[in-house]
Amino acid sequence: MRSDEWNVVVVGGGAAGIAAALAAGRMGARTLLVERAGFVGGVSATLPWLGFHDQRYQRVVRGLAGEFVETLARSGHASPITLDPKCGSLAAVHSHYWKILALRLLREAGVTVLMHAVFVDTVRSHDRITGIVVESKSGRETITGQVVIDCSGDGDVAARGGVAWEKGRTGDGLVQAPTLVFRLGGIDDDAFRKACQDPAFNYREWLAPYPRLFAQMAEKLETVDTYVLGGFAGVVEQARRAGDLNVPQTRIVGVKLHTRETPNELSVVMTRVLGLDPTDVDSLSEAYARVYEQVPELIRFFRTYVPGCERAHLVEIAPMLGIRESRRIMGDYVLAADDLISGARHDDDVAMGGYHIDIHRPSGSWVSSTNVRAYGIPLRSLIARGVDGLMMAGKCISATHEAIASSRVIPICIAEGQAAGTAAALASLPGRDVRSVPVAELQSVLVDAGAELGLDELERHPDADSWPELPFEETKVAPDAVIADSAWLT
Ligand SMILES: Cc1cc2nc3c(=O)[nH]c(=O)nc-3n(C[C@H](O)[C@H](O)[C@H](O)COP(=O)(O)OP(=O)(O)OC[C@H]3O[C@@H](n4cnc5c(N)ncnc54)[C@H](O)[C@@H]3O)c2cc1C
Repeated sequence: MRSDEWNVVVVGGGAAGIAAALAAGRMGARTLLVERAGFVGGVSATLPWLGFHDQRYQRVVRGLAGEFVETLARSGHASPITLDPKCGSLAAVHSHYWKILALRLLREAGVTVLMHAVFVDTVRSHDRITGIVVESKSGRETITGQVVIDCSGDGDVAARGGVAWEKGRTGDGLVQAPTLVFRLGGIDDDAFRKACQDPAFNYREWLAPYPRLFAQMAEKLETVDTYVLGGFAGVVEQARRAGDLNVPQTRIVGVKLHTRETPNELSVVMTRVLGLDPTDVDSLSEAYARVYEQVPELIRFFRTYVPGCERAHLVEIAPMLGIRESRRIMGDYVLAADDLISGARHDDDVAMGGYHIDIHRPSGSWVSSTNVRAYGIPLRSLIARGVDGLMMAGKCISATHEAIASSRVIPICIAEGQAAGTAAALASLPGRDVRSVPVAELQSVLVDAGAELGLDELERHPDADSWPELPFEETKVAPDAVIADSAWLT
């Protein structure tokens, strides 16, 4: 049994948890990371990383996210960060080398990582969260820590500890549609690129109302290997009419990926079911059964209907169902859509975001998007309300259904994790707790560690002027489609 008292205990080793544990470990805090899988990375393993920049191509995320992607790029395991008119920017990341790097950095920082260790309960003494209970091959053990950071993506620690949380959109509680992501290899780069450059395929529907921007982007495709797709609606409809595609998705959604060792792959983000309750095991199990069946169906669709994909083959299926939204822990501040749309800054900002509000429609197809300005994420959104000793980072921070739809992307989750881990390490110093950490001290430590807090003017990417930039108030495209009842989990 482990009887140590830890300074910082992090539950969940996804993008946010890795950053939280690493930041705390590098501060010298005795840090434990608990992960139920046999690797770290969570959903971030197998996906491209979006949103280092806002839509004006200002850099909003640096720090650990920058360090990770730049380290991987140096060894050929990530693409350069490439600009994108809707997502700001993106980088293709080699999933396995990301897991290797993350684990190595955690060990170098002195973090103890418990693998195949499942968080099962929260230890609460009056209004303080004092530890967690973990179940593993070694049995059940109680772990005490001065600060616990919930990076489970589901707000598990909060829920078990009687801390307030919300789930889904106001009104019906439905969460964004989940997707099991998979990657295709064997894409004929030239043929695929030509199709994307052909306005008839409408590969990026956001650009369709702006032919000049589309032409600019089509030219860019000659020079970049990594780019985002959201379109090809006509091709999807053709397959549906022919009875070849029943997946409840009306667009090709994905990213053309390219790293030195994994050229010409396609990340496909099209499987989906509606009505998932991500905290209900029966609902989850039924969702898995359905989305796995959709993978071969989609591969057949790509090989038959999409130029350049005739010889595409399955390379990898993401290690877990991609749940875009689950419990959101209520904190001292609830980040809301208005904050994002107005580009609000707060005195206690400890991270930033600039990715659009990207809602994979809970009861429809494809996405609804609302543009945002570079916004600050306050420390108060990372501190659980009504208790001491509990923080959170990643997709379960204190935010609304709409705000999470922006802050959930990987670089922003990493920035939140870095902030929470650093704050927790400072909070574990004698005589302190999470609410008494001096904000100026925390911000100064974060800036010294390379984080972007927007304290000075944000830097525009050097190539920004030559890339298409969408207007803030965009022409709306693509109304919600009617989805067959069979797409719903019962
Ligand atoms: C389908 C999909 C596609 C996406 N595409 C992109 C994209 O292209 N680019 C991008 O930047 N973002 C994308 N996102 C968003 C982004 O990937 C996630 O929101 C982000 O990775 C979440 O990170 P996280 O650390 O908060 O959560 P997670 O990655 O979910 O990590 C949570 C971790 O906690 C562990 N855990 C959970 N419960 C327990 C427990 N009880 N005990 C122990 N461990 C536990 C899990 O195993 C996991 O490792 C996508 C999301 C989805 C769902």
